[in-house]
Amino acid sequence: MKAELLYEGKAKQVYRDTEAPDRLILAYKNDATAFNGKKQASFTGKGRLNNEISARIFAYLHEQGIETHFIEKQNETEQLVRQTEIIPFEVVVRNLAAGSITRRLGLEEKTSFTPPIVELFYKDDALDDPLINDQHALLLARITESELREIKEKALTINAALQELFLSINLTLVDFKLEFGRLASGCIILADEISPDTCRLWDIDTQEKMDKDVFRQGTGDLLDVYNVILQRLEDRI
Ligand code: UDP
Repeated sequence: MKAELLYEGKAKQVYRDTEAPDRLILAYKNDATAFNGKKQASFTGKGRLNNEISARIFAYLHEQGIETHFIEKQNETEQLVRQTEIIPFEVVVRNLAAGSITRRLGLEEKTSFTPPIVELFYKDDALDDPLINDQHALLLARITESELREIKEKALTINAALQELFLSINLTLVDFKLEFGRLASGCIILADEISPDTCRLWDIDTQEKMDKDVFRQGTGDLLDVYNVILQRLEDRI
């Protein structure tokens, strides 16, 4: 049972679970934001789609032996997760160039990265989530060097698993963002969400963008695209 609202972000609300103090309920909202909140809209049904998609992806990662905070989907828009203390940086993994890295480094979109590039961004809206280096991360997140190494290794393992999943539904995983959290035991596990809000996915045949870029760039219908992703995940054998 959900009780107190602990936190409200751009795409989700976080509630305490009254029956289990070490669990949280994530409620996926219909809101979409881009450019650090400068572009906003609401899409009826988006919360359900991202809850479904994220739940399926976390269940797939569990099958691959990757630990996450996900416990179970509770209803159309909510999921039960293990409570963690979120490490205050985003981990972005890039297989192909798109988005901010093309602007920052003057790279052409689709430039391929082998091995994949891992970047860290400090979670601070007032600072516009700046790109940070390892030393900044150690200072700001109060983690050890070996924990940082472990987080990056996990991000690359998750990348390999997700590339395979998306390839099986005819999508290229261009890049994505992860957040990690610390359990009371001290262990660091994957948290937050994995959805077309947090991944760039391109159709292998048509090269069509099948993610939040349709909203960022105003090139298509977000709900249509997210529905296709969910459908393909459901049809996967
Ligand atoms: N991303 C995200 N949340 C953020 C910033 C980025 O989920 O606050 C995801 C984004 O959807 C993309 C990847 O991380 O899949 C890399 O994003 P990028 O740094 O290119 O930033 P963008 O140009 O999307 O703002």
